[in-house]
Amino acid sequence: GKAGNIKGKIIPGGNPYEGPRSRDYPNPALKTAYAGALFKEAAEKLGYKPFPTPSAANSQPYTNEYGATINGCVYCGYCQFFGCEMGAKASPQTAVLPNLMKQSRFELRTRANVVKVNLDSAKKRAVSVTYIDSRGREFEQPADLVLLTSYVFNNVRLMLLSGIGKPYDPAANSGVVGRNYAYQTPSGVTLFFEDKVFNQFMAAGGLGMTIDEFNGDNFDHAGLGFIGGGFFQAATSGSRPIEVRPVPRGTPRWGAEWKHAVAKYFNRSFPITIQGACQSYRSNYLDLDPAYRDAYGLPLLRMTFDRHENEHKMSVWITNKAAEIGKAIGPSKMTVSPRTEKYTIVPYQSTHNTGGAAMGAEPATSAVNKYLQSWDVPNVFVVGASAFPQNGGYNPTGTVGALTFHALQAIKTRYVKRPGPLA
Ligand SMILES: Cc1cc2nc3c(=O)[nH]c(=O)nc-3n(C[C@H](O)[C@H](O)[C@H](O)COP(=O)(O)OP(=O)(O)OC[C@H]3O[C@@H](n4cnc5c(N)ncnc54)[C@H](O)[C@@H]3O)c2cc1C
Ligand code: SF4
Repeated sequence: GKAGNIKGKIIPGGNPYEGPRSRDYPNPALKTAYAGALFKEAAEKLGYKPFPTPSAANSQPYTNEYGATINGCVYCGYCQFFGCEMGAKASPQTAVLPNLMKQSRFELRTRANVVKVNLDSAKKRAVSVTYIDSRGREFEQPADLVLLTSYVFNNVRLMLLSGIGKPYDPAANSGVVGRNYAYQTPSGVTLFFEDKVFNQFMAAGGLGMTIDEFNGDNFDHAGLGFIGGGFFQAATSGSRPIEVRPVPRGTPRWGAEWKHAVAKYFNRSFPITIQGACQSYRSNYLDLDPAYRDAYGLPLLRMTFDRHENEHKMSVWITNKAAEIGKAIGPSKMTVSPRTEKYTIVPYQSTHNTGGAAMGAEPATSAVNKYLQSWDVPNVFVVGASAFPQNGGYNPTGTVGALTFHALQAIKTRYVKRPGPLA
C-alpha cells in the first residue's frame, strides 16, 4: 500500500483520512490497472484524493520479521475465493505458521472441530474444550486459557453452546451474546464502454483505486438524514467466467441479445464498488436455531437481519456520489445500484459480518472487554470481528488484526503473569 499519514504528516498519494502510522507499508502498492487509472483521473478532477487500495497480495517478494518469505503477486486473477499458487497472499498461513511449526512447543491439530468450551461448576472458568476429529472421535483438551478465533459466527455459536455470557433477548433487550450483529451495506455503479477494453481478468483480489471522502465522518452529514458512509473503489479483482457477466440495464435476460451483450461487455466494463457502513439495531441479532442442527446434533446459528432506513438513505446518497465519478469517466452506459431492497443472503455481497460478541466498557451491554476477554469467563478471549459494536465503512480484517495484537499484548504482558479480569 501507500501510507497517507505518517506520524501526522499527510503523504501525497496515500489516504489523507487515515489515522497516523509510524511508517509506510512494508511493500509498495500493487500496480494500477486501467480501470483504476481512469477512476483516479476522474476522481482527481472532481477534487478527491484517490489512493491505491492496501492489499494483502504482495507487490514483491518479502521476508517478514518471523523469517517467512511471501512471494510477489503475478496478477493471475483467480484470487478471491482461491488459494494462491504463488504463495503471494499474506495470511496467518503464509506469514506466521511457518515460524510456529518450527517451535518445539507448538502443535497444530487440523480437522479438529471444536464443539464446546467446558466450564467449571461455577461457570466462571474454562477448563477444557471438546473437539471432534475427522474420524468422528471426540476428545477433551484441558486448557488454562482458551482463545476463540473461529470467525464471527462460530465464535458466537461456541459461546452460546458453551454457556459463556448471557444470550441476547431482543424482546427484553437484555443479554449480550448475539447482540450488535451487523452486516455491510454494499452497492455499486457499473460502467460500460464501446471502445475501451479492460482485461479485468488480469487482476488481484485487493487490486484497486480507492477514495475515502464519503466514509464515516469524512463529510458533512448536515441535512442528509443519515449517519455513516463508505469507501468507493474501482476494483480489478478478477472477472471470473460465468460468475461475472455485466450487461447494461434493459438488456433481455436470456437469448441471443443477452449473449451478444455479455460477450461484448465482459471485457468493456468495470464496477465502482462501495462498501458501506451498517449500524447495529435491537432487531438484528444471532441466536441458536430452534429447528436446524449440524451433523453432531447441535443447533446451528441463526441470523436475523435487515438494514434500516438509515442504511437505505445512506446507500442512495453515496452511490449517487460514486455515479458522479463514473459519469466523469465517460462511459456509454452506466448502471447505478444503491442498496435499498430487503436483505437477502443471495447473491454474495461480501464476507464482512460483525458483532455478536461486541466489545465494550459495560458487561450489561457487551460480551467482552476491550482486550476481547469475556466478562463472565475471564480465561476465554473471543477474537475477531465479532467484537465490533457496529459495521464500519471499511472492510474488517485490518481492524481484526489490530484488535488481535492488542489482545495478545495484554495476555502476554498482564494476563499470563496474573490471570484474571483485565478490565
Ligand atoms: C472471498 C472473500 C473475500 C474477502 N475479502 C476481504 C477483503 O478484501 N478485505 C477484508 O478486510 N476482508 C475480506 N474478507 C473477510 C476476511 O477473510 C475475514 O474478515 C477474516 O478472514 C476473518 O479472520 P478470522 O481469523 O476472524 O476468521 P477466519 O479467517 O475465518 O478463521 C477462522 C478459522 O477458524 C476455524 N474454525 C471455525 N470454526 C471452528 C471450530 N468449531 N473448531 C475449530 N476451528 C474452527 C476455521 O476453519 C478457520 O480456519 C474476505 C472473505 C472472503 C471469503
Ligand atoms: S492474484 Fe492473488 S492468487 Fe493470483 S498470484 Fe496474486 S495474490 Fe496470488
